Amino acid sequence: MSSFQQKLENYATLALKKGVNIQKGQTLFISAPLTAASFIRVLAKIAYTAGAKQVYVDWVDEELTRIKYDYAPVDAFQEFPSWQAAAREELAEKGAAFLTVKSTDPDLLKGVDSDRIAAANKAAGAALGTFRSYIQSDKVSWLVIAAPSPGWARKVFPDEEQVQAEQKLWEAIFQAVRANVDDPIAAWEEHDNKLQEKAAFLTNKNYKYLHYQAPGTDLTIELPQNHIWVGGGGPNKDGVHFIANMPTEEVFTVPHKAGVNGYVKNTKPLNYGGNIIDQFTIHFQNGKITNITAEEGEDTLKKLVEMDEGSAYLGEVALVPHSSPISQSEILFYNTLFDENASSHLAIGSAYAFCVRGGTEMNEKAKEAHGINTSITHVDFMIGSQDMNIDGISHADETEPLMRNGEWSI
Ligand code: ZN
Ligand code: ZN
Repeated sequence: MSSFQQKLENYATLALKKGVNIQKGQTLFISAPLTAASFIRVLAKIAYTAGAKQVYVDWVDEELTRIKYDYAPVDAFQEFPSWQAAAREELAEKGAAFLTVKSTDPDLLKGVDSDRIAAANKAAGAALGTFRSYIQSDKVSWLVIAAPSPGWARKVFPDEEQVQAEQKLWEAIFQAVRANVDDPIAAWEEHDNKLQEKAAFLTNKNYKYLHYQAPGTDLTIELPQNHIWVGGGGPNKDGVHFIANMPTEEVFTVPHKAGVNGYVKNTKPLNYGGNIIDQFTIHFQNGKITNITAEEGEDTLKKLVEMDEGSAYLGEVALVPHSSPISQSEILFYNTLFDENASSHLAIGSAYAFCVRGGTEMNEKAKEAHGINTSITHVDFMIGSQDMNIDGISHADETEPLMRNGEWSI
């Protein structure tokens, strides 16, 4: 067996056994790009071997997506097929596991009218609301991973020939997800434990505020009462331990919706579904985004923030040391799954309710009262760097250094 094949199988095994943690008799729903078909076949084989009863695949063809944006009538973007949402809801109710494989070409939607993109994202966000609540409260096991596509690989390695670019991207992914080590499962157990320990330590600290300082950034974020930091994996409603992102290097919690003040500058470009947004600064007042400037993709970012009431507020605060292995690779992935795990980040939009004690049982009103944001969108953007300092401020108004020059100081 070639070593590439071994790593590919390691990756698929990790995704199924440590990621969604597939159970005997369970259904696996995979959403994947056509360009990753050979990897999906490996995944399916290992899933059945591990006990899955059904493996369903929802194929995405990015070229077809682009054709639609270029040629379909404008009102086509205002609707999302309700049967697609219903299928996911039905499977979620029956306890299926959900695996999404990302490969988005960062330039897929370059030049497309931003109104069309905003309308399509809004329609999908609204239609998938019920399904999203399953995911965002961890009721079902779910996982996001990535596989190279020709366009994505070219963007990451523009100086390589196509084949080499895709190979290099595979290797970078294998390294980031620890599929290239002797015992990947053991490596993930150790990693998962470390992240959970860090999260528990921060939950115990119970900071009232985090204060971020870096070139272009001076931001204070209030953390709600009873907030919980989360890192690595956790249980779904049936008590099955799963890990929702591979790679994952972050510990995260929920910011208080009305408690964000100051301004923040991004440090890595954001690939928002095939459009790049970069060199942007966001200003906040009492949680609300009051001003945005961007050198690239300003219109797209503004439309994202205007999507609904909650998209003008934050829903996630995540800490990642600058020395994270993905950051050390010095590869700019143009893919949030990787770039967010190389950098401290925030997310515009909905918050994960499990980041507040009792949060998954709260109704919309109780969430609002607790400062837990709700929205039809959730988009991470990267703000960490080696120049970032973060202080934790306690309820007794004591300040302590949490990160210095992008590294943990506690
Ligand atoms: Zn995150
Ligand atoms: Zn996020």
